[in-house]
Amino acid sequence: MKTPYYQYDLQLLRQTLDAATREANKYGYTLHYAVKANANPVILNEISSYGLGADCVSGNEISAALSGGFNPKGIVFAGVGKTDEEIELAIARGIYCIHCESVQELMTIQKIASAMQTTANVALRVNPNVDAHTHKHITTGTMANKFGLTVEEARRIIKNFDRYSNLNLFGLHFHIGSQITEMNVFEELAQRVNELQHDFYANGEPAYLNLGGGLGINYQNPDSELIPPFMNYFDVFARNLNRNSWQSIHFELGRSLVGQCGKLVTRVLYTKKMGSKNFAIVDAGMNALIRPALYGAYHRIVNTSTSSSKMERYEVVGPLCESTDILGTNVLMPVTQRNDVLEVLSCGAYAEAMSSRINLRDIPDYCFTNQLQEKTITKTGAPLQG
Ligand SMILES: *Cc1c(COP(=O)(O)O)cnc(C)c1O
Repeated sequence: MKTPYYQYDLQLLRQTLDAATREANKYGYTLHYAVKANANPVILNEISSYGLGADCVSGNEISAALSGGFNPKGIVFAGVGKTDEEIELAIARGIYCIHCESVQELMTIQKIASAMQTTANVALRVNPNVDAHTHKHITTGTMANKFGLTVEEARRIIKNFDRYSNLNLFGLHFHIGSQITEMNVFEELAQRVNELQHDFYANGEPAYLNLGGGLGINYQNPDSELIPPFMNYFDVFARNLNRNSWQSIHFELGRSLVGQCGKLVTRVLYTKKMGSKNFAIVDAGMNALIRPALYGAYHRIVNTSTSSSKMERYEVVGPLCESTDILGTNVLMPVTQRNDVLEVLSCGAYAEAMSSRINLRDIPDYCFTNQLQEKTITKTGAPLQG
């Protein structure tokens, strides 16, 4: 297959889904897959077959989730900038719940639902002001960013909800950030949710609580932790969240479900030395994986072509005309040559989904394997070569 391409391990995806659903089922938690992590149609079909709902952040994601086999009654819809058309689509398709992020949005949903002579289900996305202790560009639950309603706004809306005659208020939604690896952050979130639901609902808690996603994965040593710590994650909520048996508790996992099942396979075009630096110039750049350029994110990179025991440090860079077009810096690899194949690990989430046609590059192809290599699926139907 022509490089660069994304290679997904279906068996690992299934093992991950098995683990996540098993741990969530212990507590009767409902899972939604955050489609924005990877909307590959094969992945959507696989995840919907496990009975998960979907968490969408655009109208096109709602359409993709429906095509991918998700039940509309399991779809939730978030985002700070929903257009009227997207809101109409969400209502027309009968999705489960719209997560509302501003007062103007709530008024808009009311107006649209009224014009459509129907009622829409909403929950309020509240910014709980909890610091996720993650990279500042993927923190969403503090006052320094654009997401959600303030606590004061949410309190006022709930008090005066009668005026929204075409809306059903299900409850509350929270999502504080991504790639969170410290469990005490989730503990803090659970405790904050306890306070807020008590504060907002004097006469009994809301029927619906959605705690968002954000569980991180191990980018440093993916092989040591291919399946994220779902047991600890859900256990933290089970121990810290005050919950009545009739409340339904939802989560929206993206990265942790798909992150480790994908890699980006790329070929070395050239190597060169400039000053003290060795460059390995590869055929995939920020068009295929933008996370290092966008957030300085780390991905493990391995050379699978050589067994040389002589090691060198490389800047692994893409072919694009941008100085930030770097996949890895200071990468320790065996001495690398033109035509060697490199694998960039942990590329199942936010890689293909954020790919672009910058410099008019093609969007990379993809293929699926399972461990036995008995079956492969490629976008173009091309056979997978070893
Ligand atoms: C991105 C996002 C998620 C998923 O985040 P992960 O870190 O991939 O688990 C969940 N909910 C909302 C509202 C999001 O925007």
